[in-house]
Amino acid sequence: MKKLLSVILSAILVFTLVPFGVFAAGKCTCGKDPIIMVNGLGNTIYQGDRVVFPPQKDTIVNAVKQAIPMTPAIIGGKLSDTQLEKFLEVAETFFAPIAFDVNGDPINGVGARFSYPTDENHKEGDFIYFDYDWRVDPFVTAAQLKDFIDYVKELTGHDSVYLAGESMGTIMMNTYLATYGFEGINGVVWYNGAYNCVATCSDSYANKNKFEAEALGRFLAQTGVNTGNQFLNDLFAALTESGLLETVFNSVTDIADDLEKSGRFSRFLNETIGTMPGFWAMVSSENFDDAVEFVFPTPELKEKYAGLIERITRYHDEVGSQVDNIMAEAQQITGKVGVVAGYGSVLAPVTADNLQQSDGVIGTAAESNGATCAPYGSCFAENYTQAVDCGHNHISADREIDASTCFFPENTWFVKYGKHNLGSYGKTICNRIFFSDGFNVFSDPTLPQFLLRDEATGAVSPLTVENGADIQAKTTFTSKILSFFFRITERFISLFKALRGMIIK
Ligand SMILES: [Zn+2]
Ligand SMILES: [Zn+2]
Repeated sequence: MKKLLSVILSAILVFTLVPFGVFAAGKCTCGKDPIIMVNGLGNTIYQGDRVVFPPQKDTIVNAVKQAIPMTPAIIGGKLSDTQLEKFLEVAETFFAPIAFDVNGDPINGVGARFSYPTDENHKEGDFIYFDYDWRVDPFVTAAQLKDFIDYVKELTGHDSVYLAGESMGTIMMNTYLATYGFEGINGVVWYNGAYNCVATCSDSYANKNKFEAEALGRFLAQTGVNTGNQFLNDLFAALTESGLLETVFNSVTDIADDLEKSGRFSRFLNETIGTMPGFWAMVSSENFDDAVEFVFPTPELKEKYAGLIERITRYHDEVGSQVDNIMAEAQQITGKVGVVAGYGSVLAPVTADNLQQSDGVIGTAAESNGATCAPYGSCFAENYTQAVDCGHNHISADREIDASTCFFPENTWFVKYGKHNLGSYGKTICNRIFFSDGFNVFSDPTLPQFLLRDEATGAVSPLTVENGADIQAKTTFTSKILSFFFRITERFISLFKALRGMIIK
């Protein structure tokens, strides 16, 4: 018996140690098709050997140097025409180097760098990552993804693959599926996806941003809690409590208004980030027409950018507005689908709905394709009942999310305090969906519909009434002292603004 066991063991060992290269010319017999993960936005953009995005230290230092002399005017809430132009010029130093031409094509010599994998070994559960230039037309990227999938099949000796997309990667994945269909695709997972919209981008392009000091206060308080830094908690609480935040914020809002009303914000968009079809794909279907109107407000601009507008409209028509159809097909054809979304964080305080639940970058309702979410910091009323009665419970223990309205109510997972970037639990969920039959939110009690992420370890556990309570910022006496000084500062600034207002009038 012992001998038999050792023979079996060594046979398994030998089998695992044989490099797959031996079989590369033929089929791989491991039985686990590879998972291709379409990455989110993040690739560095180069001009030759120089990094142009994200902006490097010299660009940032230069911008700060140019902005400093404008500080009193900014705090005063009013910039002259020359200053507004200067302000825009500074903003443009960050984005002009990565802008596209009028047809939405990259300008020669500026782009991302990426390479294909060369290791034909692939282990169960490992992702093979697909990179791309996040600025370009999703249809161009989808064609590159097709080549990549063919390459991975050849490399690994498999006839089919699984697809997972993260954040912006879900846009590229959906464009691929809408264009090339599901042949050779065994399953699809949307992870913290941008495929419905990214409100910060969508609301900016459509001129629906909302600036509120209260929202900024919430955003800062959350940042304090997330960093676990007591001083930041005290500082942010004092800034809000003293009224200083609101006073300064109102000045900045006045300047934003002037930028918008003078047409300068539109110009900034159509000369820089508005030229990139990749960003346009993050505009919601509802906002699309308004966004085209705001970014290209005149017939001359519409004519000038006709090539670009045609491209972004194609994405909107064939992919952005077809999310439900793409998902329905994925489920019918592959039978293995899943969605993962985060909640418990507020968005950057510039969106029209600044109380929406999110993972900090993308709204939860958009990411989950349809969850009903209580506004950030609150939960459903006691008499709230599940929107769609399907016979099981889809309301989270903290009563903040109702998953019954999701496109896949049984295949959508929610992670409270889940970060936007892919956690190891994301990989686990992908694997369970792809490599077991009919895996859903009821299959494994350790992976139910609602999970809680622990900030210290990054691990998730089932969300319960006890562990699911919202984390609140706590302040100390330091906050009271800071608040006292901020209140005095606030009085000075208000006086300065009033005097300035009298002089300028
Ligand atoms: Zn294999
Ligand atoms: Zn159900």
